[in-house]
Amino acid sequence: MYKLFINGENVDSASGATYEIRNPATSELVDTVAKGNVDDAKKAIDAAEDALEKWSEVVPTQASTVLSKAAHLIRANEQELATLLTKEQGKTLPESLGEIRFFAKTLEYYSGAKIVGSYLTLTDKVSAEVTKEPVGIVGGIVPWNNPVMLMGSKVASSIKSGDAIIIKPASTTPLSTLRCAQILFEAGLPRGVFNVVPGPGGVVGEELLRNPKVRKISFTGESETGKHIMEVAARDLKRVTLELGGSNPIIVADDADLEAAVDNTLFGRFRNCGQGCMCIKRAYIFEKIADQFVKRLVEKVKAMKIGNGLVQGVNMGPIHSASQREGFEEQVNDGISKGGKVLTGGKRPTGPEYDKGFFYLPTLLENVDPSSKVVREEVFGPAIPIFRVKDMEEAVTLGNDSIYGLGAHLWTRDVQKAMGAARKLKAGTILVNTAYGSGGWEIEVPMGGFKHSGIGREYGIEGMGQYQETKTIVYGR
Ligand code: NDP
Repeated sequence: MYKLFINGENVDSASGATYEIRNPATSELVDTVAKGNVDDAKKAIDAAEDALEKWSEVVPTQASTVLSKAAHLIRANEQELATLLTKEQGKTLPESLGEIRFFAKTLEYYSGAKIVGSYLTLTDKVSAEVTKEPVGIVGGIVPWNNPVMLMGSKVASSIKSGDAIIIKPASTTPLSTLRCAQILFEAGLPRGVFNVVPGPGGVVGEELLRNPKVRKISFTGESETGKHIMEVAARDLKRVTLELGGSNPIIVADDADLEAAVDNTLFGRFRNCGQGCMCIKRAYIFEKIADQFVKRLVEKVKAMKIGNGLVQGVNMGPIHSASQREGFEEQVNDGISKGGKVLTGGKRPTGPEYDKGFFYLPTLLENVDPSSKVVREEVFGPAIPIFRVKDMEEAVTLGNDSIYGLGAHLWTRDVQKAMGAARKLKAGTILVNTAYGSGGWEIEVPMGGFKHSGIGREYGIEGMGQYQETKTIVYGR
């Protein structure tokens, strides 16, 4: 059984309650976990408060050492961690390994990151120094789609900044996070600097939002939950970072490297069974190459192997839960009922290996009415509507026609065309002739959304800065 991780110890929940974590591919029991409540959240906040003063004094030297050692230990345990992640989340083992390695890289990156202030001469008698201080106690609230990766930037940025953090993992994916916390403690992190309290969002999460000792909320999740977080946090003027939903378009021009664009769509839409904020969710293809693009994509999608993420050779695991699959099916069926044509997929796979999991076939749709849910809403599952466009202007207009603005993909060999479109696209990250989630460079650049996709940024130095307060000290002579 997994317990809460508070003040460097594995502890039972105050109520003694536990719950089960089940594998989305097989419905088998993975393990049980202690179920935190308001008292547990308070206990973790108090532990963070006790740790804070001492920790903020020894940062940044000790933080660098701990983060670097932790990266090493995470790598040493990557097989165990990845297997656990696949069992609780459903993604394939290579995807889990990628996520664990990304976490190790995040720890390493922030281990070396510098906290930079500045010094200014204001007049011949007055100078100023601008310094960075820890924000204090951070509440980190994380979703289930990439639990370790998304916890990683919050934890590493907090640790390096001299904060203490309480992570509230998604209720269905707490196990790998708890194991990671233990490893960071083994790497030398002092008690109370990093705590993990699994439990319902409406209970443990709410306590983090409402407790006045918590000075910052770093939230990743749905846009509707994000609005609630901001509203509650505002009552106490807590700092907030909100990483929310996305509906990233891909635009493929007629001069693009077609094969690379097809591969990017395949990977960008179907990795993690389509359950990613940065996944590609709408495709806008220039008319001249659309037939060829669709033909190649259909061939590649049909060749994908769906199954239990632990089985070698499987390209796509199940959807994370029964309720997620139901919501996703409603979106796809809405698109079909409004005239959408299924090019491939459009249903659950059949066979004994699929009966107990939440599988769905990778799905390509055409002729979908733009008012359909599968176009307007964030689609967190393996389906993509494909549209034909006459030129870049139309593609950019349609790409921007969304409440979301997290990212956009652009494929063209024409530099002028790329620069013009990239500037017009309303999104936080524009990827030109490259894929997101393919290399690990993502750690070094800020990531976050325009419009309903969020507020603030994670990753890079800018992301870490959001875990700090800026102080200006002015000296007269
Ligand atoms: P949710 O918003 O449902 O949940 C996210 C987290 O918030 C969970 O830990 C949940 O707990 C918790 N929570 C729920 N209600 C409250 C509350 N009232 N107070 C405090 N915490 C609460 O999102 P999902 O888990 O469904 O995650 C998928 C979403 O995350 C997608 O929209 C996706 O786009 C987005 N996302 C955004 C990213 C980005 O960087 N922009 C990256 C990855 C995902 P519990 O599990 O107990 O309900």
